[in-house]
Amino acid sequence: MSRDIHQERSAAPAASTDAVDGPVGEPVLELDGVVRSYATETAVEDLSLTVGDGEVLTLLGPSGCGKTTTLRLVGGLEHPDAGSIELRDAAIADADDGTFVPPERRGIGLVFQDFALFPHMTAAENVAFGLDDWDEADRRERVAELLSLVDLAEHGDDYPGELSGGQKQRVALARSLAPEPDVLLLDEPLSNLDVSLRVSMREEIRRIIDETGVTAIWVTHDQEEALSVADRVGIMNDGRLQQVGRPERIFERPASRFVASFLGRTGFLAAERQGDGLATDLGRIDADRVADLDATHGQVVDVLVRPDDLRATPTNEADAHGTITSRQYQGPSFVYRVETAGGDTVHCLQNHTEVFEIGQPVRVDVVADHPLQWFPRE
Ligand code: ATP
Repeated sequence: MSRDIHQERSAAPAASTDAVDGPVGEPVLELDGVVRSYATETAVEDLSLTVGDGEVLTLLGPSGCGKTTTLRLVGGLEHPDAGSIELRDAAIADADDGTFVPPERRGIGLVFQDFALFPHMTAAENVAFGLDDWDEADRRERVAELLSLVDLAEHGDDYPGELSGGQKQRVALARSLAPEPDVLLLDEPLSNLDVSLRVSMREEIRRIIDETGVTAIWVTHDQEEALSVADRVGIMNDGRLQQVGRPERIFERPASRFVASFLGRTGFLAAERQGDGLATDLGRIDADRVADLDATHGQVVDVLVRPDDLRATPTNEADAHGTITSRQYQGPSFVYRVETAGGDTVHCLQNHTEVFEIGQPVRVDVVADHPLQWFPRE
């Protein structure tokens, strides 16, 4: 387990939340204390991570947090300055003894955001590229199998210039999977596609990964993509892995304020223990809706509330918890920002038919049906 995560937890000892959920399958890939620095920058800092067999792990974080460098280290495009990387119990990189298996001998496939297809080769020739040492009949069979898997059986003779963005990405995926890699690395695979295509393509890529059973690390800065395709999500910041876990756990039980604030629209409510619950500007939150209430130890805490945890109802000033200060129309819903009497800012998710004006006094009810995470007040 990474030392970074312990540091992160002691800096912000929230309700008892494990910062690491273990891998879903048997360990396949293990990074231990990996560091990669450039002249003025440490891109990856003491990173430890285990990925299980057949698991899809997404790496999510803000620009420059070290996601791509992590993939490049695993793929053998970068040497670690410290630490080691093992694939199926064999070292592929170890800064201590200088072990470094070159990329082409690692059994790792790479899919880049710009597809990186050879423009003068057909789709079938691109897919066959890594199969030089296969005999002719096996190679032809494997290419046909892969083109069919990515739903391009009819396009084997097309050149990349004749294919759409989504089709090019499928060819790139088929090419990476053709040599039967142990691990597939995807670096922002959807960022060069139209927004309208991204949702269907991410489902399609996940289907293809599942059919092949390959273990995958998928880098993205799109939180919806990261949460929807992953078995586990790793959140990175400043070269450090902040938390690794199942998507719903990361979302509901973030281990730090950074993780909480990075996922979704986040509001914090100042709260203090009151009997068997917490007193807030929105009234009392009962114990069954507070994560590890006893650990609050009488201190002032900030309770994490997201828009879907709260519901606003217009009322008069005397009965109001706060006032609407902005609204965002999202088609099926509105998100209203509410300033509470005590100065907290929260957001409420309402149906699109619930049209409230700025300045409207509102009651705000906590409707969350899960325990709310909290952090010590800073
Ligand atoms: P993005 O989402 O913007 O692609 P990222 O999370 O993938 O970002 P990295 O590309 O891994 O981040 O970069 C991490 C840090 O390392 C950044 O500050 C970047 O400027 C720096 N860095 C990456 N590669 C190099 C390099 N070859 N030389 C110098 N600095 C680099």
